[in-house]
Amino acid sequence: MAEVSAKIRQAEAEAERPAGSVTLVAVSKTFDAEAIRPVIEAGQRVFGENRVQEATAKWPELRAGRPDIELHLIGPLQSNKAKEAVALFDVIETVDRDKIAAELAKEIARQGKALRLYVQVNIGSEPQKAGIAPKEAVAFVARCRDEHGLDIEGLMCIPPLDENPGPYFALLEKLAREAGVEKLSMGMSADYETAVAFGATSVRVGSAIFGHR
Ligand SMILES: *Cc1c(COP(=O)(O)O)cnc(C)c1O
Repeated sequence: MAEVSAKIRQAEAEAERPAGSVTLVAVSKTFDAEAIRPVIEAGQRVFGENRVQEATAKWPELRAGRPDIELHLIGPLQSNKAKEAVALFDVIETVDRDKIAAELAKEIARQGKALRLYVQVNIGSEPQKAGIAPKEAVAFVARCRDEHGLDIEGLMCIPPLDENPGPYFALLEKLAREAGVEKLSMGMSADYETAVAFGATSVRVGSAIFGHR
């Protein structure tokens, strides 16, 4: 935790960005409450999970009495889980199609919950990956606002494995500018320092904090 935080601060300084401008999302998927508790005790408050069901089993107890914990959904969302996801999460980073946008809008209204939302972009246009295609991303963000009434805060991506991530991070930054959104969720254990150099406002780091899954 300390090492990851220090590397983020260093990457911010090297990019001449203000200290603290990048949020660390600690990705606790697959780890149980016993592994997560020491990280909370070390002061970490923002966590990411990729499965609604797993998060629902772990987090209500872990966050009890800690209203400052912020939980991000970073995995794919099925529309039959929208109700549960809206109830549990503070931020959903994986809005990637109209059906989900419509379902989330309905649940947000029904539960009266202020939820922060990101659109996931399939930045490498990989068939096996979730996310809206890069060429459709700007129009989709506009539709989320204008047709679904959703306020999109930023874009999220996972670049192709084993490729230089820099050009993909740069593309996400360009799409965010065109879409008129400010936040960029990009960078994982292998490339979070690079992501900070390319303008990430949050990085999602799992194994570098919790160990191998
Ligand atoms: C698992 C996961 C991460 C964290 O990956 P690490 O390589 O363990 O840091 C980040 N983002 C998403 C969407 C993930 O599913």
